[in-house]
Amino acid sequence: MGYIYKTGKFNDNTWLIDAIYLNKEGIQSRNGHATYLIQTESGANCLINSGSRSGASTVYETLKKFGAWPLQKLILTHSHWDHTQGVITLREKVEEEGLAPIEIFASEKAIPNLEDQSYNVCFEDEPYYSDYLNIEGVSPLKDKEKLFLDDDFYLEIIETPGHMPDHISIFDEKNKCAFVGDAPGMRWFTNFFVCNANSVYWQEKDYLESIEKMRSLDLDYLCIAHFGVFTDSDIKRFLDNSVSMYNTWMDIFNQNNEKLNDLKFLLDLIWDTVYKDFSSMPVLKISLESVVKNALNYYKGLQNIN
Ligand SMILES: [Zn+2]
Repeated sequence: MGYIYKTGKFNDNTWLIDAIYLNKEGIQSRNGHATYLIQTESGANCLINSGSRSGASTVYETLKKFGAWPLQKLILTHSHWDHTQGVITLREKVEEEGLAPIEIFASEKAIPNLEDQSYNVCFEDEPYYSDYLNIEGVSPLKDKEKLFLDDDFYLEIIETPGHMPDHISIFDEKNKCAFVGDAPGMRWFTNFFVCNANSVYWQEKDYLESIEKMRSLDLDYLCIAHFGVFTDSDIKRFLDNSVSMYNTWMDIFNQNNEKLNDLKFLLDLIWDTVYKDFSSMPVLKISLESVVKNALNYYKGLQNIN
């Protein structure tokens, strides 16, 4: 199978955990974001991304179920709230249980963003926690750095900006597994790909270079944050689709330069042309609106259009 999205173990050292959103009463509301647990043979536990605050409770319960709590390390791929605010929840659990603090890591470039979350207001809100809380005490990682989880097992840090300037990917050479966060974009549904440009922080040149870095890795598993793991030929297919979908959307914006303030027109145009095979699933169009809006914000910034 080319795609894994359910919680569970998928290679010798790695588990996918779906950080399902829970409301304040603990009721499941929707799928969350894929977080990944790495457990070494010696029992060291490292999590890649925490999920949001309302998703981290699921992560915590699942880690306990897998015998992987407490965590020793947690690496954040980038500073967006939906992958980092869960740090607040996990730290609360550590404090309640009197455990040793989890070492939290992120790109050196992410540290100022984590310490001042105000930039996150450009995104849709976390559904159950309206405030984005600042995250202090994060250790910086540099490009090409090796982070050892125990004496034998290490992860290599690879800068993959574009989606966000502070984005890193994490490469596990032993299992040929790369954790690439949002760097190549997301996958919503079978064959439903959207443009990955989602904020004014987007950088096209960096994104394309990061895709090339991912292509150059010898991989059995490509692990993205929305929502799972690609294997086999689907790794290349996903990376190819990410770039071609980005180019398709930018072409549409280029060709409709006089309509950039007409969101409805552009949404209809994209839906009726790019996504014509999905016309029987109109709910996807509703979700597409905010993605078009964010991509347009980026595009207008690029072109200096208000
Ligand atoms: Zn992101």
